[in-house]
Amino acid sequence: MAKKPSSGPRGENTVLTTAGRDPAANHGIVNPPVYHASTILSPSYAAFEESRKPGYDGYRYGRYGTPTTRALDELSAALDHTDHAISVSSGLAAVSCALLAFVEAGSHILVSDSAYEPTRTFCNSVLGRFGVETEYYDPHIGAEIERLIRPNTKVIYMESPGSHSFDIQDVPAIAEVARARGVKTIIDNTWATPIYFKPITKGVNVVVYAATKYQVGHSDAMMGIIAMGEEDRDAVRDTVRRLGNTAGPDDVYLTLRGMRTMAVRLRHHMAAGLEMARWLRDRPEVKRILHPALEDHPDHALWKRDFTGASGLFGTIFEPCSDAGFAAFFDALELHGLGASWGGFESLVLPANLAKSRTAVPWTETGRVVRFHTGLEDLEDLKADVDRAFAAMKAAG
Ligand SMILES: *Cc1c(COP(=O)(O)O)cnc(C)c1O
Repeated sequence: MAKKPSSGPRGENTVLTTAGRDPAANHGIVNPPVYHASTILSPSYAAFEESRKPGYDGYRYGRYGTPTTRALDELSAALDHTDHAISVSSGLAAVSCALLAFVEAGSHILVSDSAYEPTRTFCNSVLGRFGVETEYYDPHIGAEIERLIRPNTKVIYMESPGSHSFDIQDVPAIAEVARARGVKTIIDNTWATPIYFKPITKGVNVVVYAATKYQVGHSDAMMGIIAMGEEDRDAVRDTVRRLGNTAGPDDVYLTLRGMRTMAVRLRHHMAAGLEMARWLRDRPEVKRILHPALEDHPDHALWKRDFTGASGLFGTIFEPCSDAGFAAFFDALELHGLGASWGGFESLVLPANLAKSRTAVPWTETGRVVRFHTGLEDLEDLKADVDRAFAAMKAAG
């Protein structure tokens, strides 16, 4: 029979391998079982009545959580050094539920100009339809954001590094201003994961993750995680429940399983991504690299101050090339897949058009933007793959 663990402070890698599972309560089996549940039966009328009371925290219906979802919540909260976390059906669901928890008709929210594009679309469409005004701000604004706060400003939404442009925000400065003015802060921390950045320890209220990326880590499930402190727990959890947003048990299990190896995977993604970025920087076909962990990135000092590592996702700006050459580059790649998402074990590339998706700070770079995700393949093979694709680009003119 498994031993009961003693309590006490644990290092992060130990938390990753121990939180959210209890072999002693489960026949000694290492991993928690996957509970498939809708109905959860009450043993008596009195127990049923008890389970309907506000604040009841036991199991009462599949949508309100099972031991499987709570195992993921426990691990997620422990990693973010906070009290609570809740899983939802996708990263975008984490974003939308977190925002909806704090706004009402007539609210004004401030959203970073380099936020993930579907986040912007959600704000502009759904929130707009219900009378919430979204104002986009320069991601480099820092404490100056104070002058954009209005009496009806309810949320400052951050994403750092920003999608595709990889600009780093001064998160502690923004969180401090927001707290002083009674404004909630939400951050999309998908890129760094809680392994490399812990926003709640920097004063942020709510952290959202596309756990689809590194937590799942194998490109085989969609998942969202929202982490928060005690003060914001009811607002977020009630919103998630009222919207009926539930993550499926098998996907929750896949996320838990992925997270057990997340730190070792990330160490490889970081080292390999940095080597790939440096290699690309020296290529004549590449004009600029957008990777905050490189010393020449304009926000490198901020990244170094707040983050303890980098993931395997970074951007490049190509030197001018023809449409045919650009297409030939993607078509010649064999190991780098062309597709949305990232955070899995495999390498990916994605072209992006930022001129269309920025409104506060116009995107003025003329070169084409190509995002790279460096996976777990052998680096020499990845370089050879890109080398071949550049040759095809040149041959196409
Ligand atoms: C992918 C992504 C999302 C959305 O996650 P899904 O699970 O695809 O819905 C949100 N934010 C960022 C930064 C992302 O990269």
